[in-house]
Amino acid sequence: MTETPKTVVRRTPWPDSASRPVGTPIQPSVVYASDSPDALDAQYEGRSKGYTYAREGHPNADVLANKIDGLEGAEGGLILGSGMAAVTAVMIGGLKAGDHVLGGDQLYGRSLRMMAEELPRFGVQTSLADPTDVAAIEAALRPETRMILVEVVSNPTLRVADIEGIAALAAARGILLVVDNTFTTPRAFRPFEHGADVVIHSVTKLLAGHSDVTLGYVALKDAGLRKKIYDSAVTLGLTPSPFDCWLAERGLYSFELRYDRAEENATLLADALAQTPGVKRVLYPGRADHPDHNRAGELLGARSGNMLSFELEGGRAAANAFTRACPDIAFAPTLGDIGTTLSHPASSSHRALTPEGRAALGISEGFFRVSVGVEPAELLIGEMTAAAKQAAG
Ligand SMILES: *Cc1c(COP(=O)(O)O)cnc(C)c1O
Repeated sequence: MTETPKTVVRRTPWPDSASRPVGTPIQPSVVYASDSPDALDAQYEGRSKGYTYAREGHPNADVLANKIDGLEGAEGGLILGSGMAAVTAVMIGGLKAGDHVLGGDQLYGRSLRMMAEELPRFGVQTSLADPTDVAAIEAALRPETRMILVEVVSNPTLRVADIEGIAALAAARGILLVVDNTFTTPRAFRPFEHGADVVIHSVTKLLAGHSDVTLGYVALKDAGLRKKIYDSAVTLGLTPSPFDCWLAERGLYSFELRYDRAEENATLLADALAQTPGVKRVLYPGRADHPDHNRAGELLGARSGNMLSFELEGGRAAANAFTRACPDIAFAPTLGDIGTTLSHPASSSHRALTPEGRAALGISEGFFRVSVGVEPAELLIGEMTAAAKQAAG
């Protein structure tokens, strides 16, 4: 038996057990007690390993990071409080006043805001260019360019970046290539194998997979830079909660199964929608009619992912009719959930753009993005094609 504490104020020792738990424990402790100042010195000097204070690191974050490291072929990845915390850590930790950072022109909305609103206030220059066009990227580079941030597959038109061309440019000029791998996931694409220096994830999406945690991940190839970004993240307070890390780890066990099933569903749904009256076009990198189909094949192999977009004829009225006709498919601005979700860029992610700006990207009022989930394919295809027909009137 464990000892009974002398007062209720003291912690009760954890019960002994000859057997061990199969599930990962949750460790919410903010602080860790050491035996002596000498022992603490040893820890801070790296002679012994141990936790001190949760903002600096905790076991549930490390367990989760280790699992994602394995998927990405990375070492020493960091878990942070959100995908945007990961972007923040890399940008604030890796750039200084006078530097220039070049971003893809269809980055995640808040990454675009980081470039447009936040970094310039600290004297960091920013600009955007089309990452599907390596000549445009090259033309946008400046002597001060220190970092390029790109996503492999863009939102919501699913354009595929010329990662290898960009990686060659970045390597030749000593520019840090940061790849946000949220949409593609390591199941389809491992950026370190294609010349990336930094990999970022919104763990919130496909990796955690259940729309119940907000977390981010960042892995850096260079150990010196990794230490710098880690120190910035700890100072900026971008810490994840142990419970969120535990939930995400739990979600990750089924990640590969979910991804494969969702991708299979997406392939079937894309073809079914393309043949449905009232659907003007379908965008899916796995389809031969996608503008970047060939590059997707080269970069992602047989992987086309779970994301597809389609456009209804009939504009906003058809869009309203469509979401109302399939109420079981969550109309919600996220992606990567276990179930299929539907988003409408004109009223959410791209609402800040003018109609002309949206039109230039090919986003009309009838445009939807689908994050395909793992439902039975017949059910999903039945619901969505029926809703499209109904919307077409
Ligand atoms: C959602 C998302 C982010 C931001 O992640 P959060 O976890 O919501 O902070 C960054 N990049 C991409 C591509 C995303 O989809």
